[in-house]
Amino acid sequence: MTLFPDMVSGVLSESIIGRAQAAGLVEVKCHNIRDFSKDKHRKTDDTPYGGGVGMVMSCQPIYDCYKSVLDGLDKTKTSRVIYMSPKGRIFSHGVALELSKYDNLIFLCGHYEGVDQRIIDEIVDEEISIGDYVVTGGEIPACIVIDAVSRLVPGVLASSECYEGESVASGILEYPQYTKPREFMGREVPEILLSGDHKKIERWRLEEAVKITRERRPDLLSLHPEIEESLKPKEKRKRAKRGTSATPCLKNSETEG
Ligand code: SAH
Repeated sequence: MTLFPDMVSGVLSESIIGRAQAAGLVEVKCHNIRDFSKDKHRKTDDTPYGGGVGMVMSCQPIYDCYKSVLDGLDKTKTSRVIYMSPKGRIFSHGVALELSKYDNLIFLCGHYEGVDQRIIDEIVDEEISIGDYVVTGGEIPACIVIDAVSRLVPGVLASSECYEGESVASGILEYPQYTKPREFMGREVPEILLSGDHKKIERWRLEEAVKITRERRPDLLSLHPEIEESLKPKEKRKRAKRGTSATPCLKNSETEG
């Protein structure tokens, strides 16, 4: 539900989400709140009670728009109404996973100073924020949530492996990626990626992922100690479990796996 449906339909008709829609895996319907205004000038907002700058989106057009959306939905399916708002729960991969379990998601996009509190109290299940900053409208935030949730819908990506190893989804940040050519501006692709040794490549990628996460997002790493733990030599892991300190000198072969 938006005052600017083209902002949303344009973005989501391109690329992977566009193809997912064409294949019938997800469906995005934009509803123009203005079409439901009962005002003779099709007004959808008004000045704030109590004074202050800007305009506030009025309840009536949003409520009638919402009713019309509900009329078009199968009542046996699950749905959740989300108001995109800087006051909401911060969006994350975990929130995207939660939302992907619903059959229908209904997004209310605010504009100007936002919407009348009473429409939030009446129809909204949850407020979601894309981060601690303010953008001009809820359309781009809604596109971000729709895109992130749609990627989790089976069939939208080639396989769930496509996102399971990705930054944040795996618990930590992703290792660096390289494609052809082997050399660019004198910079070589790491030799190990050309080795064909999948076990070694896997370990290198995990090490790189842990390294970049330690540098940039140590908070993520502390949430998943088992990831760093899995890189330690087996003997060290056993001792750590028993609560004794590990021997400081292990041979290289013992650090593998
Ligand atoms: N006056 C409001 C901000 C209004 S911004 C306040 O201080 O809370 C206009 C609209 O943009 C909002 O109604 C909301 O729908 C959207 N918006 C702005 N920042 C957002 C964010 N970080 N996350 C989600 N939606 C946001």
